[in-house]
Amino acid sequence: MIAGRAVLIKLPRDKCDVDYIKRLMALTNLVYRGYEVWVPDMPRTIEHQLYGFRDFKESLVFGVTPKRWFARTWMPLKTLRVYGDGSMKGDRKAPVVLDFRGSVIRLRQVCKNESGYSIELPMPSWVVDRIREGGDVRFAMIGLRDNEPYLALVAERVVEPYVPSGYRLVVDVNVWSNGVAYGIVNPSNRIAEYSPLRPNLRLIDTWYHKAEKLSKELGKLKRLGLGSTPGAKRLWREIKALRRKVYAYLRDFAQKRVHELVMKALRLRAEVLIDDMIEESRRELIEEKIPRGLRKVYLAETRRFVKLLTTQLRWYGVPYEFKRLPSTICPVCHHKLTQEEGRIMVCENCGFKAPRDKVPMHWAVRL
Ligand SMILES: [Zn+2]
Repeated sequence: MIAGRAVLIKLPRDKCDVDYIKRLMALTNLVYRGYEVWVPDMPRTIEHQLYGFRDFKESLVFGVTPKRWFARTWMPLKTLRVYGDGSMKGDRKAPVVLDFRGSVIRLRQVCKNESGYSIELPMPSWVVDRIREGGDVRFAMIGLRDNEPYLALVAERVVEPYVPSGYRLVVDVNVWSNGVAYGIVNPSNRIAEYSPLRPNLRLIDTWYHKAEKLSKELGKLKRLGLGSTPGAKRLWREIKALRRKVYAYLRDFAQKRVHELVMKALRLRAEVLIDDMIEESRRELIEEKIPRGLRKVYLAETRRFVKLLTTQLRWYGVPYEFKRLPSTICPVCHHKLTQEEGRIMVCENCGFKAPRDKVPMHWAVRL
């Protein structure tokens, strides 16, 4: 099984011509559609490497086939790896050179339409870590996101999932407002560890409501025809910064928690069971009267968490399975559970009682 992981690296805007990258992306779109266009004022080497991908089915793992004509499609790039001992792997003429001797990444001909133009970036520790784990970075992509130039590196690793030791790591994914809970079930079927992982919701709430308040003020200015005044522009910048903060915080939180969970599973050679009930949680969010905008953020970031988790589990060869572990049905007698104060679930039939987030662990024990 080949597992893959990717990382995005922001490219310096002053050294990268955004319009040129736009043209490369347009050309890539055509290639995906089966066309061959030789643009007279573009380096032949770049066009050759792009058309080289056409006969190469695997290249389609990069992104998806563009849905629309002229949609911007990230350009796939080959890489040359130069290792510490001087040995090399890959295409000598590749536009991306990962130089482990100099600890730099060199980009040739893809940042500016100028013969021989190349830029250097410091080698991210992410790449060094993936190589150390037995991975290889054979491909990269260049493209724009929010009109900013980025390089994406794709690491691949051949890995076979290990045989689980009898430990199970249960991950119960709720939308961020209720957090993610994890539990460890040991080989003798006991819940050995249990903990909810919750981001600082008060902080997110504060940022979100502040952004909402400023949006209303901006709306007022716009209705008065003052939408392009310096004051309005400053407001808009403030709103954007606050929204970015919410995303950045949740992303960082997800990244750290995923890493911790995967390392825990690896240490115990556990099998991972994931209950991802995003739909059920969506209803819960509506019931809890969380504002629509914030609900969307929570849902999107929760999906990202699950994606991040499965990507990393595959990368490290941790066997995992999606399993329905309902938190509203009694794991002992399958009677419906009643929710009491403080998210405590009680079974009126057999007397089972547990915090709502812990019910899935009790299901895992009885699997
Ligand atoms: Zn019961």
